[in-house]
This record gives sequence, C-alpha cells and structure tokens, in this order.
Amino acid sequence: MGPAAEPSRIVLCPTCGKRVKWTATNPWRPFCGERCKLIDLGAWASESYRIEGDVETDDHPSETGDSGSS
Ligand SMILES: [Zn+2]
Repeated sequence: MGPAAEPSRIVLCPTCGKRVKWTATNPWRPFCGERCKLIDLGAWASESYRIEGDVETDDHPSETGDSGSS
C-alpha cells in the first residue's frame, strides 16, 4: 500500500489518440509528448483566429442596420 502501488492510468492523447500513461513523471500529460502538446496549443490558437476572421468576413447579407447590442 502506498503511492508506489497506485495503478497508472491510461489516457488517450487528445492530438493523436495514442495511449499515454498518466503518471506524475510525464510532463506532457495528457499528451504523448511535447510535439502533440504544441500541436494542440497551435490548433487552439488558430481556432481563435478563425473565429475572429469569421466576424470580419460578416456572412450576414441581410443586416437591418441595428449594430448596437446583440
Ligand atoms: Zn500524441
């Protein structure tokens, strides 16, 4: 009984779906490695940019001019 007896949890890397041991010694958890962590951060950032881009694109042709509060 003790910390050493704890079973290691297996999680799936959010980026590539690979099985990753969730351990205290894995600094990249829940990712399988540094690369997948960076990829996920990059995807998150580009998604934020894309949302802002959609706002700029303004895909609503029938605006009635009321652009005060939504
Ligand atoms: Zn991965």
